[in-house]
Amino acid sequence: MNRPYAQTRATFQKALKVMPFGVSSNFRYTGDDTLVVKRAEGAYLWDMDDNRYIDYRLAFGPIILGHGDKRVTKRIVEALEDGNLYAHTHPLEIDVAERMIRLCPGVEKVRYANSGTEATMHALRIARAYTNREKVIKFEGGYHGFYDYMLWSTANMPAGSGGSPRSPIQVPLSSGMPGPTRDLILITRFNDFEGLGRLMKDNAHQTAAMIVEPMLGNVAGLMPEPGFIQHIRDLCTKYGVVMIMDEVKTGFRIAKGGAGEYFGVKADLYTYAKSLANGYPLAAIGGSNEVMGVIAPGQVAQGGTYCGNAVGAAAASATLEILETTDALATVEKRGKRLMQGMSEVLTEAGISHAITGHPAMFGLLLEPRVEKPREFRDVMGSNLNLFEEIALQMLDMGVDIELDPREPFFLCEAHSEQDIEETLNKFNDAVKRVKR
Ligand code: PMP
Repeated sequence: MNRPYAQTRATFQKALKVMPFGVSSNFRYTGDDTLVVKRAEGAYLWDMDDNRYIDYRLAFGPIILGHGDKRVTKRIVEALEDGNLYAHTHPLEIDVAERMIRLCPGVEKVRYANSGTEATMHALRIARAYTNREKVIKFEGGYHGFYDYMLWSTANMPAGSGGSPRSPIQVPLSSGMPGPTRDLILITRFNDFEGLGRLMKDNAHQTAAMIVEPMLGNVAGLMPEPGFIQHIRDLCTKYGVVMIMDEVKTGFRIAKGGAGEYFGVKADLYTYAKSLANGYPLAAIGGSNEVMGVIAPGQVAQGGTYCGNAVGAAAASATLEILETTDALATVEKRGKRLMQGMSEVLTEAGISHAITGHPAMFGLLLEPRVEKPREFRDVMGSNLNLFEEIALQMLDMGVDIELDPREPFFLCEAHSEQDIEETLNKFNDAVKRVKR
């Protein structure tokens, strides 16, 4: 260890006494040295010992502009002068929906939620109500939130637990998930054109929805092969299944109009959270007039006390305005490209085989992968996860916060400067050399 951590460790011990594993989300626990963060600004975090970190985790993706972005904060403070929550519609909700409809192809109506979990949960109900069917198809390694319907065969399933590649089995992430939820979920592999076709042919008459992360934001940002998203669209259209694009990670990040714009394919329903509000709790379900049209009092339920709260809506209004009217996302992409390219050069020089996957705003790095072009969850589990963790721990101690596990991608934000990227690459070079030694 090169830096002082006494205050951070002592504070984490306090957290352990009052919160299970000292965290508010299992994914945040990284052992006894789990960080306690005192503050954040732009692309940086500071721990309780005032050690600075360049942040590439960005709260698992929401921070698209930078931590504490002043333009966003100003709008929130202004909005709060008028209170935060009413049992009524307010103008900011309308403003955000208008912006989303303008930016996102295929979004004609919007309803709000408070987290990605809630948004996908509501999307499933809407799809079930629309089709009067119950089953849902999801992809192995895809993550759509913490609830029982969706916590099957996520990126955290153990390597080798998924069954035959021809007929993947449902793997639960947690104890406490009711058995009957297993019967409502069908699993297939990302980029498996043939397997998906077979699954649909056999089950479509019972299937309400197919839910997909259009790039696997929870599996190293793996990209769909050319035509795969269109293949999903075509099958859904053919069999009358609702296509749900889960854009919780891709939305307002890989393009202004998210994956819908990027891949040029329209889904029936979309779910958004994260970059929508630069870190404030606002999520949304968007979709066609036709499918969203089933939501109606006394018919199909959707809502919640905090849905469309002014803090979230003001943050989203400011964030979407910036994304729409500036070249913020072009900056993010440029920095990400430089980082991807620089990391690849360092690894090539060190003689470590690697694959860099995804989009510059959200990319994955796989060391010593077993296949040259990883295309699905099982390929990622075949890479050297231990070597990645060793390098990541070195980086952390040098002041660069990256995931310890390559399944979660690197996230970039507008606040990452050219100097931040160069500093990161120098440290990456040092970390790789130290680990190799
Ligand atoms: N969908 C996707 C694609 C996600 O990545 C996540 C969270 N990482 C969720 C849904 C759930 O979002 P939340 O954590 O806000 O509930």
